[in-house]
Order: sequence, then C-alpha cells, then structure tokens
Amino acid sequence: MTVDPAKPYDPDNIFAKILRGEIPCNTVYEDEHALAFHDINPQAPVHILVVPKGAYVSWDDFSASASEAEIAGFVRAVGHVAREQGLVVRGYRLLGNIGRNGGQEVPHLHIHLFGGGPLGPMLAG
Ligand code: AMP
Repeated sequence: MTVDPAKPYDPDNIFAKILRGEIPCNTVYEDEHALAFHDINPQAPVHILVVPKGAYVSWDDFSASASEAEIAGFVRAVGHVAREQGLVVRGYRLLGNIGRNGGQEVPHLHIHLFGGGPLGPMLAG
C-alpha cells in the first residue's frame, strides 16, 4: 500500500522500528542525523536506503518541517555514504518516492541510493 503524505507520522512503521533497533538491518553508516542500510530487495548492484533519524513521513514533510541542522545533516550523510561506497567516480542515482504517485510504501522519509553499474533509463515504462 502506498503512503498518504497527509497522514500523521506512524511511529510503528518499519523504518521507525529499525531506527529503534527493534528490527535488524544491514547498516552501512550511522551518525547523529541519519542511518543508511542495504535495501532488503535490491534493484541495483548497490541499493542503499538513507533515512533521517527524525520522525518525517516524506520529503514533503522533511523539507517543510525539519530544522536546518537536520536537513544539512541528512544531505551530508547521503553524500558521505555515496563517497564511502566508492560510487562518485562512476556515478550513482538518488531517488525519493513521495506519496501515491511516487509509489512510496514506507511512511518514513528515505532516499534510495543506487549504483555499482549502469542504471538504465530514469523511469521504467
Ligand atoms: P519506497 O517504495 O520508496 O517506500 O521503498 C521502500 C523500500 O524499502 C523498498 O525498496 C523495500 O525493498 C525496502 N524495505 C522494506 N522493508 C525493509 C527492511 N526491513 N530492510 C531494508 N529495506 C526494506
């Protein structure tokens, strides 16, 4: 089921549980503002999810309500993970799904980081 961005944050969503350590994940990076872990169903040779630690449903929510420090910390974490994974020279792709048309399934903001090979066209059929 896709996310309704108008709904309040659900503290029982799966990424909230991962952030609280109630569900395991394959961690790539963690700092004060963000957690990065491997996607459970990878769509590319490298498929990492980066989530902010704060309770934000989507990019819409985050960009409107997060503090400057949270926004800066999250954006820097995404860039850091890409560099740490050695993705910069050959390039990579960032993707954020927001709401129904975006196909967002988990109602906690996450950025998909894809890399490790050519990624094909930007949007499938
Ligand atoms: P989205 O459609 O943008 O909401 O993407 C949700 C992503 O979360 C999908 O790529 C899933 O494969 C991934 N996912 C769901 N549950 C887990 C989990 N427990 N650990 C890692 N990735 C997950």
